Amino acid sequence: MSWNVEVASDADIKRGLAPVSRPIDRHPPYKRIATEEAWNIPEILEAQVRLLESPNPPDDPSLRMAGMFSKLKPLQDQLMDIGERRIARMDELGIDKQLLLLTAPGVQVLEPDEGTSLARLANDRLAEACRRFPDRYAGLTVFAPQNVKGAVAEIERGMKTLGFNGAVLNSHFRGRYLDELEFWPIIEALEAYDAALYIHPTIPPAAWSQPYEFRGFGGALAGFTHEVWMHTMGLIFSGAFDRFPNFRLVIGHMGEAMPLLLYRFDWMQSNADGKEGLRGGAPAVKLKHPVSYYFKTNIWITTSGQGWEPSIKYCMDVLGPDRVIYAMDYPYQQSADEVAAYDAFDMSPEHKKMLMQTNAERVFRLTR
Ligand code: CA
Repeated sequence: MSWNVEVASDADIKRGLAPVSRPIDRHPPYKRIATEEAWNIPEILEAQVRLLESPNPPDDPSLRMAGMFSKLKPLQDQLMDIGERRIARMDELGIDKQLLLLTAPGVQVLEPDEGTSLARLANDRLAEACRRFPDRYAGLTVFAPQNVKGAVAEIERGMKTLGFNGAVLNSHFRGRYLDELEFWPIIEALEAYDAALYIHPTIPPAAWSQPYEFRGFGGALAGFTHEVWMHTMGLIFSGAFDRFPNFRLVIGHMGEAMPLLLYRFDWMQSNADGKEGLRGGAPAVKLKHPVSYYFKTNIWITTSGQGWEPSIKYCMDVLGPDRVIYAMDYPYQQSADEVAAYDAFDMSPEHKKMLMQTNAERVFRLTR
């Protein structure tokens, strides 16, 4: 491994680590496919607000987060638009194609029936936008995991009928995780329909969110990262990837920092691997492989909100250049500087094209 971390200039330090403005190359030798781009429909936002304002709302920090986001009108305008205005903005930002994910917390904070029917509605709208602008949009099917049968049916419909490119889960649902056996039919369906699952963060569940919310850390500063860590490591240690070896998982934000710790995860694996008495006394699960194996075999990561050359090169080095995929995190972290910074990365043309274009095409089956 050999790469250099440049010393930040005075201007960089003043602005943090974000790149200095450069012009965007309008004809780069690759397409720029952004793979964690958020959208929403008004019906889901209304259902979230209705539940939050009902006499006895569930104690769910993700639902409260949805309520907070509902008050940010300019953000909501951008989320709701999957038409020509968004495409004009993509042109400004230098993005050829967006992979659209229903924004967190989505349908997962709703009651099972309502969540299931609103997932269907969202998927119909998204499929329509993708049909209308096939060169600019692709989409992931959304499903309500709190209704397992409905989720399986919607994954099938999304992949077989609507032609989506994978599935999105906004992580836990009222503290439940896909690693619990009753949700494994969902994993089975994802594998059967060849749908990569993108697990996008939400705020940690009520059982452990208080110390985060107390300090303002529920979101990108810590809660989102630790929450997807829980989901990913839970899936690995549950044996889900041994049972479903073709189950493909994608996580954002540089793999929520987990790639930095693979050495220690392998070293300390026996803390949970093969241990009796975990998960409420369920039979012990003995993994077939070291933790790092699953990161190099079943898991891909995206660079959403983390357009930072050293971290991207590190992850390409330890996971393989085929495992790191570009994402912007529009509209939350849209940045006029971002793609120009990627264009300027000191990286081979082959790896740059994999990062910006071909890894996304392969993982999300964009060229079918
Ligand atoms: Ca995001």
